[in-house]
Amino acid sequence: MLLNLVLAGWALDWRIVPALLAGWFLADLASGVIHMLMDYVPCPEGVGLGTLYFYGEGRDTPEYAALRRQVFARISPLDRILFDFKVHHPRPDSLGRRSMHYQIWSTIVFAALPVSLLLNAWALLWPAPGWVMAGALAFVIGGTFSQYFHGALHRRDNPPVVNVMRRLHLLMTPEMHDRHHRSLQRDFATISGWSNPLLNHVFHWLRARGHLRDEGLEPVG
Ligand SMILES: [Zn+2]
Ligand SMILES: [Zn+2]
Repeated sequence: MLLNLVLAGWALDWRIVPALLAGWFLADLASGVIHMLMDYVPCPEGVGLGTLYFYGEGRDTPEYAALRRQVFARISPLDRILFDFKVHHPRPDSLGRRSMHYQIWSTIVFAALPVSLLLNAWALLWPAPGWVMAGALAFVIGGTFSQYFHGALHRRDNPPVVNVMRRLHLLMTPEMHDRHHRSLQRDFATISGWSNPLLNHVFHWLRARGHLRDEGLEPVG
């Protein structure tokens, strides 16, 4: 990302501000689209994810940790992320207790790193104007921290920057995110929430056509 900054052609340009806001909106939109899919695309069946999901009490025991390791060894990293999204609904506060590293590794590997490398390749081939790079970086940074921001919605103690960003409406509030947890049928975005009105329409449009069915919400077997 530092290279992204260095390679861009910087000049004072009014387009930098709308580009930053557009990048932040697109990151919010991406967080919502991915969350929607991860909630409703079914987990692989018969590998023990259902047992893990409905484990009940005793999840802080070595037996549960061993079972989780065993089950996770059978599935792909993407299916582990799929499971983490679904298990977040019955146990929302556990995401807030995770380390920042755990919350952001997948968005870095699957999104921020490839996009940032592509931006560098592009800037080397054709000098990118500063406003394009600013928008792209807002998108990459928002995307990278989307699960961290989501975790912050389920935690009381957050760094002051989170509270300042909430006051500026750059981040959504826990009350806004509660609406998702109450129905699991709306408000999937987890950064600013700016894209939720649009995504709620997309969700209902897809549901009316038989996609995103309730069976996908909980793992089986
Ligand atoms: Zn959800
Ligand atoms: Zn949540």
